[in-house]
Amino acid sequence: MADSDLPPSRISAADAQATPVVRLPAFLSSEEIVEIDAFHAAQSHACGRLAKASCAVTGAALWTTTYLSTDRRFNARFPGLLARMLAAARAADRAHFGDYASRVDVVPRVVEYHTVTPGGALKHEQHYDSGSIYTFDVMLARPGDDFDGGEFVAPDAGDEEPFFVNSGDAIVFCSHRHHSVRPVTRGTRRVLVVEFWEGEERACGHRCERASGPCRVRPLRAMVEESLGEMSEDDRAAAERFLRGRTVLS
Ligand SMILES: [Zn+2]
Repeated sequence: MADSDLPPSRISAADAQATPVVRLPAFLSSEEIVEIDAFHAAQSHACGRLAKASCAVTGAALWTTTYLSTDRRFNARFPGLLARMLAAARAADRAHFGDYASRVDVVPRVVEYHTVTPGGALKHEQHYDSGSIYTFDVMLARPGDDFDGGEFVAPDAGDEEPFFVNSGDAIVFCSHRHHSVRPVTRGTRRVLVVEFWEGEERACGHRCERASGPCRVRPLRAMVEESLGEMSEDDRAAAERFLRGRTVLS
């Protein structure tokens, strides 16, 4: 989809790189993490999902993203938490990002639950979250205990301290700031990511690139799932192979 469907950036690329990544230690309590993990376990089957970079030997996905904002499920279950995240993002903007958007109306574009296993990484050092205003990441796993590696990296952040020390620690940054994640070397890294944008609050089960108007991804997914459900086992297996080749299913 063309970039013109995304809201224009409110900050220049150069200015975005000069903003810090703001740490919010102990943003979530252990009870809140348990609630989010339980919500993910109960709802992920009904949510959009993207499996990236599979292991060459086993075919297992190394980085799975589950879109908990599918049908606004997470948004309806945790409205207070999303409001707290946005308030913290705006405060960080006023104090540290040059106040480029703290009075702009923004809503959740996507709520993602990331599961990363050994070998999984976000290697592209100039990666950024195009089209969003604020990106909010919360560590759900215990670094050094549940997993090793998987360090969040922000170029020129000004120091070498880890961004996530304990589970529940959060960071917030200008979405257009470059960031990456080093490979996980052991265990499973679990992170909740929320992007806020000026588009509509999305329910379509992926990271939407259409800021306004109907997105066809959710009805397409429902249509595919309904159609697969009516097939014989053999036909369904053949159809799934066909669709995977076109990355409709993951
Ligand atoms: Zn969409």
